[in-house]
Amino acid sequence: MNNDLIKIKSEAEGEIRAAKTTADLERVRILYLGREQGKITGILRALKNTSAEERVRVGSFANALRSEVDRLLQQRMAELKKGTMGSALKEEWIDVTRPGARKPKGTIHPITQVRNNVEKIFATMGFSVVEGPEVETEWYNFDALNIPADHPARDMWDTFWLKQPENQKSEILNPKQTQNSKLKTQKLLLRTHTSPVQVRYMEKNNPPIRIIAPGRAYRYEATDASHDFQFNQLEGLMVDKKITIANFKAVMEEFFKRFFSVGTTIRLRPSFFPFVEPGFEIDISCIVCAGHGCSVCKRTGWLELAGAGMVHPNVFKHAGYNPKDVSGFAFGMGLERIAMMKYKIPDIRLFNSGDVRFLKQF
Ligand SMILES: [Zn+2]
Repeated sequence: MNNDLIKIKSEAEGEIRAAKTTADLERVRILYLGREQGKITGILRALKNTSAEERVRVGSFANALRSEVDRLLQQRMAELKKGTMGSALKEEWIDVTRPGARKPKGTIHPITQVRNNVEKIFATMGFSVVEGPEVETEWYNFDALNIPADHPARDMWDTFWLKQPENQKSEILNPKQTQNSKLKTQKLLLRTHTSPVQVRYMEKNNPPIRIIAPGRAYRYEATDASHDFQFNQLEGLMVDKKITIANFKAVMEEFFKRFFSVGTTIRLRPSFFPFVEPGFEIDISCIVCAGHGCSVCKRTGWLELAGAGMVHPNVFKHAGYNPKDVSGFAFGMGLERIAMMKYKIPDIRLFNSGDVRFLKQF
């Protein structure tokens, strides 16, 4: 009998230690101390059928065992309860002082920054920002700007022509030709400059006009460090009764001075653009060497930045104005070009490279 009790004791101790949850422990308690089937309870109950001597000997041992198992059960129960509380706390614990998860933040593309800056400067001089479609008709891109089909200047704008389905061709009409009731379809293209916006705007608005039209333009040409097939152009137009080249020079000088944050001198050189007369190239005194000559300005002291001129009478006519009543100037420059000058960027292709190392610097 004693051997049985010793075996029960070691088994009970093992099982109590192995219990992982309070439910496990409850099963162990019932197994040993349960009122009906408990092993120790069974032994104590069986004592009444034994001799008085046996009852005393085994009885005291069995009672001590019951107390011991009961104590171990309570001790283990306390441990388990403490443990569950611990893990619950661990799961729900929040460190309120911990910094939040940082979301990576992009930067504004340098061309967008330049465009915003340009728009701001011209806005203070009373210019509105106007936009037009990037897919243009042949009329607005060329004809309305005094560049007829046989004009040699069309060679200057190598063009991406768009294929059109036969059934859509009749919908795109030359506005002037529809008026003449001679319906002729218009070929579509990706605009080669932002100048079509001038005509579109003049058709719907009367002078005085002060607008800039920034936006993408496309040329079908090989890329190199200073040419890309897609670039951003800034078109400007000012039309009123007595606009002269002096007005133009003043506006340009003010713009470049504020854009580059240095004083610059402007130089106009005669040039040819079909939609202006007279036409000129705009140079500014080199912002790097202040006109003394350096590698950026190729030792000339001047930087070529834009094309411009006084609006051609034919363009006014195409827009519905009488060229005798109004005059004005127009200019166009590449946003990439002035951005490259401002930030000293050596290659135009970097702008569309998607290289984060490049973009992060702005
Ligand atoms: Zn220079």
